[in-house]
Amino acid sequence: MSEKTVKPEDWIRPEIRALSAYHVPEPGEFIKLDSMENPYSWPAEMTEAWLDRLRGAALNRYPDPAARALRARLREAMAVPEGLAVMLGNGSDELIQIIAQALAAPGRVVLAPEPSFVMYRMIATFCGMDYVGVPLAADFSLDRAAMQAAIEEHRPAVVFLAYPNNPTGNLFDADDVRAIIAAAPGLVVVDEAYHAFAEASFMPRLAEYDNLLVMRTVSKMGLAGLRLGLLAGPAAWLSEFDKVRLPYNINVLTQVSAAFAFEHREVLEAQTRQITQDRETLWQALAALSGITPFPSRANFILFRVAGDADAVFAALQAAGVLIKNLNPAGGPLAGCLRVTVGRPAENAAFLQALQSAIA
Ligand code: PMP
Repeated sequence: MSEKTVKPEDWIRPEIRALSAYHVPEPGEFIKLDSMENPYSWPAEMTEAWLDRLRGAALNRYPDPAARALRARLREAMAVPEGLAVMLGNGSDELIQIIAQALAAPGRVVLAPEPSFVMYRMIATFCGMDYVGVPLAADFSLDRAAMQAAIEEHRPAVVFLAYPNNPTGNLFDADDVRAIIAAAPGLVVVDEAYHAFAEASFMPRLAEYDNLLVMRTVSKMGLAGLRLGLLAGPAAWLSEFDKVRLPYNINVLTQVSAAFAFEHREVLEAQTRQITQDRETLWQALAALSGITPFPSRANFILFRVAGDADAVFAALQAAGVLIKNLNPAGGPLAGCLRVTVGRPAENAAFLQALQSAIA
């Protein structure tokens, strides 16, 4: 090495150095109930048919930059209203990033209720935007007056509303969401990552607004490994975002595999129905435990509060081979809270048993 030293701290922006990287634990041998994945695989004959389809995928060629076939398939499967545009992302994470990159300018604000999905804040920071978090009410509903006041004060370029919300699991009141869309001077993105379990959506209302986008992902429907998200909304917005999108963001294997999966949509939907039913069973079982308070969920996970030491309960579960998400370190309204993803019935039972021992 030469005399000269070039130090990251001289060049990496202070707000980036202040961040901690998005932490995902190694899955190892755990019963993995931390990431809102669908635990089910496909029937053997469907897997065979998929492998046949993959044989025809041309890896030597760039993918279709516009992913036309897949977009058409998803537009139909997700019931995107006529006349609205659709854009795909490498996960909905990438769509959040594209939106922020297109809107970012000094002093521009991203606004979201808190607690909510942490990537809204992180991506705002990556893009040099200001972030404003507005506390949810004590029952995790939207504080409409506080949201409207913050919108008035900060004039956000974009408001993100996770519907249902992560990590709380509840579905915001639709009238509150409509009031926020009406008050917002810029865009509102309704993030429907968990729509498959929610039985509620803003997709049918999309054409009523000129500042509303609906975002979805296939991750929670059993295709998390493909990394594919969808943004639907007015073409006037999406054609601008499309300029920021890297040309080949949806790779060949994802295009082929996701189109195949949605040809067999009934398999994904049956799994989703099963998970939604099992969520109710798991919720009742949690509610029956003394010292455990589960919050209402319209997603494929349940947030619950532990009367005792949540960190100790989390560690005891981990020692028993069950990995969930510890939200206690986030503090504030999440103090004492853990989040469990709905798994297979046997996994849910193993989790409940380990939890019972942990709080005994
Ligand atoms: N939005 C919400 C509310 C989420 O909880 C998640 C995943 N945890 C995402 C978006 C990102 O999903 P993906 O990038 O897998 O599409």
